[in-house]
Amino acid sequence: MRYVSTRGQAPVLNFEQAMLSGLARDGGLYLPETVPAFSGLDDLDGLPYAEVAFRVIRPFTGESFTDAELRGAIDRAYARIEHAAKAPLVQLAPGHHLLELFHGPTLAFKDFAMQLIAQLFEIALKRSGQRITIVGATSGDTGSAAIEAFRGIDNVDVFIMFPHGRVSEVQRRQMTTPDAANVHALAVSGHFDDCQARLKDLFNDHGFRDQVGLAGVNSINWARVVAQIVYYFTAAASLGMREMDFCVPTGNFGDIFAGSIARAMGAPIRRLIVATNQNDILHRALGSGEYRIGTVEPSISPSMDIQVSSNFERALYWAYGGDAAAITQLMDELKQGGFTISQGALQALREQYVSGRVAEAETLAMIRTIREETGEALCPHSAVGVAVARQHLEPGVPMVTLATAHPAKFPDAVEQAIGIRPGLPPHMAGLFDLPERVTRVENDIAALKSLILERRTH
Ligand SMILES: *Cc1c(COP(=O)(O)O)cnc(C)c1O
Repeated sequence: MRYVSTRGQAPVLNFEQAMLSGLARDGGLYLPETVPAFSGLDDLDGLPYAEVAFRVIRPFTGESFTDAELRGAIDRAYARIEHAAKAPLVQLAPGHHLLELFHGPTLAFKDFAMQLIAQLFEIALKRSGQRITIVGATSGDTGSAAIEAFRGIDNVDVFIMFPHGRVSEVQRRQMTTPDAANVHALAVSGHFDDCQARLKDLFNDHGFRDQVGLAGVNSINWARVVAQIVYYFTAAASLGMREMDFCVPTGNFGDIFAGSIARAMGAPIRRLIVATNQNDILHRALGSGEYRIGTVEPSISPSMDIQVSSNFERALYWAYGGDAAAITQLMDELKQGGFTISQGALQALREQYVSGRVAEAETLAMIRTIREETGEALCPHSAVGVAVARQHLEPGVPMVTLATAHPAKFPDAVEQAIGIRPGLPPHMAGLFDLPERVTRVENDIAALKSLILERRTH
């Protein structure tokens, strides 16, 4: 399978190359030239998660990994997810189901992709003898998942930038307490969008990029999107492979974009519902066709506090019929604050996605409501998803809302809503006793570069 950039000016790559590079050299994102149709939809029910993962991912990896390598990587990755079902589907109410994606080592859905790509990176780097430097930007969950997945992996250094003071204490500790020499947590002055902008600057500096062997594992990395396709299939299989809707708490548009790939492969997905908090650029764009950057308003669902939604570029590329020149033009306009989506592309997007947004008070109210109705505590991101899903329920069509994090990862918001502080699961006890290791750094590209050069272990 061949991968092309959304901006049309970067080399065509295979899966391994696209995975190792992350962002394309022209600033675009990699996408497969064509999406493979999935055969054997009706054979999935009752299979172990790892087996479904192998069948879904296999067509995307092409010649990059042997079957044995891919199976081994999948088995090692998902052995670290505590629940036997890996992504259990729990019923909230008649016709409404919650897909729990938070049973991994850092309690958020990011573990599903990050654990797998760490294993794939290790295989690829062992084979080539190459050494790389991973740099990531995080609003909290990507960074903890990356540090947890890559700590101690040979031939890799990992630097994670997070917005200082704007991640939860559990998120911060998950990034600052692992003591492996190859992982480095950087607290950057600014917002997540600043971290993400600095990350793009690093990648667009080709001299630096080649000097340190820069690689990215942000949600723009195609290999992460691929890993996230799998649970749409397992959920659909559990509900009998009939037509259903998915509601996805959305920030950088990675998780929901994986849903659109699942649908393109043949999964019976009717609507994909984008759920946002008050940082609602996606909801506004799908409503008005105007994609305009506002200011980030910190919320109780911080992993969705963004204004520039990176993976949306992939959806735009499809909506514009693969017109890379048009996407390049839009992304240039975005640097000046925003762009208008063409009528044809907007219509194409609206055929794929519907959207909703909820304000803080509604999110808190939804955590309370679900507690009363089911006894379960939701994390605030999942509560945003459930609240938007409830606006879109239709009789006869099952709704699946993705629960993207464990409530214990955001205990303050949950306590504010229901007066109970959710406890960490047993495999994470001790997090609050470990010493932290973190470096403060300015929102400045030169400072970041010299820090990376100085701290690398190779
Ligand atoms: C990352 C994250 C999201 C947003 O996912 P995207 O793929 O970036 O849209 C939602 N909820 C939680 C808990 C997250 O960690």
